[in-house]
Amino acid sequence: ALPVIAIIGRPNVGKSTLFNRLVGKKLALVDDRPGVTRDRREGDADLLGCPFRIIDTAGFEEDDPQSLPGRMRAQTTAALAEADAALLMIDARAGVLPLDAEIARWLRAGDTPVVLVANKAEGRAGEQGVLEALALGFGDPVQISAEHGEGLADLFEGLRPFI
Ligand code: GDP
Ligand code: MG
Repeated sequence: ALPVIAIIGRPNVGKSTLFNRLVGKKLALVDDRPGVTRDRREGDADLLGCPFRIIDTAGFEEDDPQSLPGRMRAQTTAALAEADAALLMIDARAGVLPLDAEIARWLRAGDTPVVLVANKAEGRAGEQGVLEALALGFGDPVQISAEHGEGLADLFEGLRPFI
């Protein structure tokens, strides 16, 4: 079986943009199972010729914000149970928000390896956020721009031990 990477992070950091870039036209199925996996998308990803399975934890962006942490926690837990590694994504332009720090705490409490990724790092607007990301405790973030396709070689390096 292919290794499995779960993209984890609060809404709007760019998870689905990276998912779409890595899966591209090979996206075969949109998962439609009930329960916490309802909104999940999985696909066969390819990064510099290396194949793996990728999970996008998604779909709760339009919900009542009050219910967000609980649903995110459930989705994150379900995805992590299947994952060989978690790609924890933050938005370098927004910096580290309390919800990012909370998600990082869950991940630190678990035993799934974490690759920290600072997205939206094109240009220089993300420099402060990259510094803040160090405080999450997963080392230097891999800086990427999912939208512009930058930093994918560095992402490959970060994921290499798991794919
Ligand atoms: P998700 O909620 O984490 O799945 O985030 P999305 O993939 O839906 O992206 C949220 C927003 O961020 C969208 O408007 C994207 O176009 C934007 N976005 C995603 N990646 C980048 C990036 O690398 N740079 C910038 N500037 N915007 C991005
Ligand atoms: Mg999404």
